[in-house]
Amino acid sequence: MDFKNKTVIVTGSGRGIGRVIAEQFVKNNANVVVSDLDQGQVETVAGEIGGNCIGIKANVTVQKDIDILFDKTRKEFGQIDIVVNNAGITRDTLIIRMDEKDWDMVLDINLKGAFLVTKLAAKIMMKQRYGRIINISSIVGLQGNAGQANYAASKAGLIGLTKAAAKELAKRGITVNAVAPGFIATEMTEALTDETKDAFLNQVLIKRSGTPKDVASVVLFFASDEASYITGQVLAVDGGLTIA
Ligand code: NAD
Repeated sequence: MDFKNKTVIVTGSGRGIGRVIAEQFVKNNANVVVSDLDQGQVETVAGEIGGNCIGIKANVTVQKDIDILFDKTRKEFGQIDIVVNNAGITRDTLIIRMDEKDWDMVLDINLKGAFLVTKLAAKIMMKQRYGRIINISSIVGLQGNAGQANYAASKAGLIGLTKAAAKELAKRGITVNAVAPGFIATEMTEALTDETKDAFLNQVLIKRSGTPKDVASVVLFFASDEASYITGQVLAVDGGLTIA
């Protein structure tokens, strides 16, 4: 896959899966914007990745930040071809104990953030008559998970957003797809209890946790010309967990 002259924005790419997605795009010759909450962090990460990679701070729940992110990206690279909605958080607890603020925060970042970014990306991509939008959902959005009602709802919502956007944008040369990772070893999953980790891993057919690179490979495929006839799809990257 060669992404020469293509520009990619990856939200929440200061660490974890997003960072590895950014690295893989750079390895395959793309211009890449690493974006996350902290300017110092994104500049450091972009410097470490090297290549045509820059860091621009953006909180995906703040419209002004997204406007600046897109403006600066276009100033630097001239266009925006690929957007990966990766920023996401968890605030896990049972429904009966879940605060309204934890519901709102997870929905705001994981779902509304992706909507705001998609809206601006779509406007630009429609004019270009080309674009690729890839949303990082979760198998929890497909199956639900006890203790993650807010997260499951946000990730299921992302799948709905993916399909609706695919229907609206296909005729303008824009594809919209989602990846649904299973249990991927990152700082996010490191925070889970050993009990929860074991419960997940026991169900994985391919007996290991996934790596950020397992997810990045599918993101790059959806972004590539090879995937130009695929839109509105959700691909689980879960070692067989959802069929187990
Ligand atoms: P992570 O916590 O390591 O990284 C998430 C990043 O998003 C962080 O750098 C964080 O600062 C950033 N972020 C948080 N709020 C933000 C905001 N408002 N604006 C911009 N950036 C923000 O998590 P990860 O494991 O790398 O997960 C990346 C994505 O993959 C998330 O959407 C997550 O839900 C999804 N996912 C992860 C797993 C897994 O097992 N790790 C499984 C399924 C889905």
